[in-house]
Amino acid sequence: MLGRNYIKVLYIDLTTRKIKIERREDLMEYIGGSGVAMKLFSELVKIDQDPLDPDQPIIFAIGPMNTIFPVVTKTAAVFRSPLTGNLGESHAGGRLAMAMRFSGYDAVVITGRASSPVYIAITEGSVDIKEAGFIWGERVERTGKVLRDRETHIGSGKRSIIRIGKAGEKMIRFAGVNVDTYRHFGRLGLGAVFGSKRLKAIVIGGNRSYPILKPKEYNKVYNKIHKIATESGAMKKYHEIGTPINVVPLNEAGGLPTKNLTQTKFELANEIDGVSFAEDLLLRKLSCSGCPTGCIHIGLLRIEYGPGYKTKFTGVGYDYELIFALGSMIGVGDKKGVLRLIDAVEEYGLDAMSTGVILAWITEMFKKGLLTEDQLGLKVDFGDTEAYLEIIANIVKRPNTFYRDVGMGLAKLAEKYGGKDFAMVLGKHEMTGYHTGYGAMIGQSVGARHSHLDNAGYALDQTMDKLDKREMVRKLIEEEIDRCMLTSLHICLFARKIYGDKELVCEALDSIGIKATPKSLTDMGEKVWRLKNEMKKKMGFDFRELRFPKRFFETKSLNGILDTDTAKEIVDIYVKEGGL
Ligand code: SF4
Repeated sequence: MLGRNYIKVLYIDLTTRKIKIERREDLMEYIGGSGVAMKLFSELVKIDQDPLDPDQPIIFAIGPMNTIFPVVTKTAAVFRSPLTGNLGESHAGGRLAMAMRFSGYDAVVITGRASSPVYIAITEGSVDIKEAGFIWGERVERTGKVLRDRETHIGSGKRSIIRIGKAGEKMIRFAGVNVDTYRHFGRLGLGAVFGSKRLKAIVIGGNRSYPILKPKEYNKVYNKIHKIATESGAMKKYHEIGTPINVVPLNEAGGLPTKNLTQTKFELANEIDGVSFAEDLLLRKLSCSGCPTGCIHIGLLRIEYGPGYKTKFTGVGYDYELIFALGSMIGVGDKKGVLRLIDAVEEYGLDAMSTGVILAWITEMFKKGLLTEDQLGLKVDFGDTEAYLEIIANIVKRPNTFYRDVGMGLAKLAEKYGGKDFAMVLGKHEMTGYHTGYGAMIGQSVGARHSHLDNAGYALDQTMDKLDKREMVRKLIEEEIDRCMLTSLHICLFARKIYGDKELVCEALDSIGIKATPKSLTDMGEKVWRLKNEMKKKMGFDFRELRFPKRFFETKSLNGILDTDTAKEIVDIYVKEGGL
């Protein structure tokens, strides 16, 4: 789409090994990223078949501004989620968007199932489906290293390697896909969909260059955006401490989910706050390709693995959501413990947030006598890092029926074993790190991908003076539509303060030959949002069936105790106002 009037789509069928390329002018109205991926998904998804059926598609898409403008770094992945059975959408940074740009493809569609494990190597002139038996069973980091050494013809600076670990191979429904190092398509089980296709990895890159239509205008608008990104303070907090800067304020305000949301203040919050990490363990900061911010904070983890001071040093990426899920939510209040748990889920390729919330439920189930030592193979209490490491290993090894069931995700697990009142899922998706009020709870429930990032309801809870249900609904919808626009261009959502200025976005698009107005961008965002909701309905989602675990109404949120009637009323208003 950059410098041309079509979206170039690469289709790969792993069953037949057929490759097809299409130049789709009709997709231009969706611009790119989420929009294009959703449109392709709507054409290809098999509504009546299981999410892990070989015919289900995986779609990756980038937008026209990726790599060309600062902080426009993300790639959308759209698929049918094996965790919720419904819409799966995840976004990742790293080098992937840049590598897709240089490979020449705006979107890549993968269907089918290989007869044996494979990886795909994509570059400008070639698409190869290669045997991956030698790395099947390998951990994530090792897989990346092996493929780096093998695929040297795909230029390293402009290359991206995305891959699954054992969790994805075993189709654990909250397995993610690791992108390069420290970035992920974490949520909703894309890793399991890779596993179902016997797809271990994708290596992609190239050297394609693109003419910039109006170089003078481009330089001007690029410099303007770069200046805002580096000098205005808009990105400052992300660079300095990163998202973990939120731990202490959220804790003090009483919104930090702790010990399976039995409390919203964690006595050890100061120990696992961003400042504490920065002072004691920060090793370095990294950026996605094309971002001057560097918000990816890497902590130094020293692991003793044998007698005689056998020690390994490793870098582990940490951010707020990981610290919530593998820290406060399970009562782990020491930084090293949190990093060890992050390192474990990273190497198996599990979604850290879902894993943490499941560990919290397991702990409470065990403490209440609803799960036995026999089932777990050990005893567990909040804060017990060693036990959690063993449970994580068992989730992947699956030594018995219970651990095999854990692989289905928390909603299904609680249906079978009980404890639904404190199984912290919203829209069948494990909760995110905010118990701030109705905004966070309803926002995740009604958001198209049941992510806190759909509509940032947690932020509304912290900025609205008093609860006004209609106003909250209006803001949730507006925000989600805006974000559908941003993620179709594929701007990192941390840069929304910069690109929230739609005139600036139009100026940027104009310099690369794309005509848009603030209104046309909003209309496009709304169209994508409506398409998502339409697809969700087709796949069986019904707002009237939304349920909230009782615990959300028992534990005081940042905005006090919530009540079910108000929650239901807000959902009803949402459906009505949104015309859903
Ligand atoms: S702000 Fe962070 S996540 Fe966003 S593009 Fe930059 S480095 Fe990547």
